[in-house]
Amino acid sequence: MSKQDIMDTEEMEKENENDNEYEQICYICHRPESVAGKMIQIPGTICICQDCMQRTFDSMNTSGFPMDDMMNMGKMPNISMINLADLQGFMPQQQKIKKKKKEKKEKPVLDIHAIPAPHKIKASLDEHVVGQEHAKKVMSVAVYNHYKRVMSDVEDGIEIEKSNMLMIGPTGSGKTYMVKTLARLLDVPLAITDATSLTEAGYIGDDIESVVSKLLAAADNDVERAEQGIIFIDEIDKIAKKKNTNQRDVSGESVQQGMLKLLEGAEVEVPVGASSKNAMVPMVTVNTKNILFICGGAFPDLEEIIKERLNKAASIGFKADLKDKYDHEENLLSKVLVEDVRKYGMIPEFLGRLPILFSLEALTEDMLVKILVEPKNAITKQYQKLLAMDEVQLVFNEDALRAIAKKAKEKKVGARALRAIIEEFMLDIMYEIPKDDNIGKVTVTEAYVEGHGGPMITMRGCLELEQK
Ligand code: ADP
Repeated sequence: MSKQDIMDTEEMEKENENDNEYEQICYICHRPESVAGKMIQIPGTICICQDCMQRTFDSMNTSGFPMDDMMNMGKMPNISMINLADLQGFMPQQQKIKKKKKEKKEKPVLDIHAIPAPHKIKASLDEHVVGQEHAKKVMSVAVYNHYKRVMSDVEDGIEIEKSNMLMIGPTGSGKTYMVKTLARLLDVPLAITDATSLTEAGYIGDDIESVVSKLLAAADNDVERAEQGIIFIDEIDKIAKKKNTNQRDVSGESVQQGMLKLLEGAEVEVPVGASSKNAMVPMVTVNTKNILFICGGAFPDLEEIIKERLNKAASIGFKADLKDKYDHEENLLSKVLVEDVRKYGMIPEFLGRLPILFSLEALTEDMLVKILVEPKNAITKQYQKLLAMDEVQLVFNEDALRAIAKKAKEKKVGARALRAIIEEFMLDIMYEIPKDDNIGKVTVTEAYVEGHGGPMITMRGCLELEQK
């Protein structure tokens, strides 16, 4: 056998292996092979399950089309019944769903021994997320417990409850970022959805179950992997009960009601490879029992509710305090209780299924400065890397960093403003510097950030002298 032949066979084997990972779906009833049994391949890239094939023949017989008689009598000599066993063909990849992997059983994705301990999860989060110590700690423990629960067997009668979370924090304080980092660290699929687009089934908007089909897509249609993933639902405060409304609250309370069974654990039929159910897309069943749900929201005006409660408690009895004691208190959100969120408009059943409630702090100027330089993927590091490719050193002065942080703080959108501000003044640097090969170093100064001066430029020759 020549070398080329060996390579060809290897390639074919690889292709076959790849093909074996997917299961076929009946063209008529859309059931996968694992449910409907062996498929019959029909030329023209179509597969049909044996039930549907039988039903087709039956209906032909009962419709007064006497197939057997005609053929037995030899009236239709050119027509013969298809030999079903001969029908072997090819099916395009998009018509199949991935089979549950068997080899994963030997080596589970989430081996309890492989799940990092809470302090290790937090240490990894520390590398990316600045501040938010309490939130990181709560999350690490909750995630650790969740995956322990997934791995445990319930034979002893003690079933550990699900640790779904409700995260409250101002916009741009790192809610989404923390969840993303966590999912990457644990190597589990993650789906991020916005609660604003969700509506009760049958109304314009996304069905509640669409969040599960997003997760399935994130897991490459691998149901087993999806069933251990994380679903992050952002802007959860937007589905609070609407006040003073006479109409049916299809995007508020009804969505909360609809989410109850998902949060707790239910078998959900979701379409594969599409966001809406219709007759042409195959469906699979996903169990949400082991899916970790994290809900997040900014809950504007929640502070008022907390303040009201605290003031009420403080002004009763002998130890009565000043009425406005909490008026200037920062980070009131950290004092949040379930009853405050309930007052905000979340229904008790919904809150009961999100037992872990915690808040994130609003980012201070100091934290913003740290976000600029400290995380592994810090924005200043990214620009330094870009310029290093042109062999130019980029330095940010301490006061320049502070000026950026100050500007960002004024915009009141948390860390999200940082990128826009830097992008604005880095444009000129990124445009001008590559023009001149003699430039060795650029220093961003406070004056440049404030807009009344230019960056400090050092030529290569001077840089060498400096270093000597
Ligand atoms: P939100 O709380 O509104 O979900 P995000 O998590 O989307 O905010 O934050 C926006 C961006 O700000 C993130 O992509 C991240 O780069 C940055 N960021 C926010 N908070 C932090 C933080 N505590 N540490 C590091 N980066 C942060």
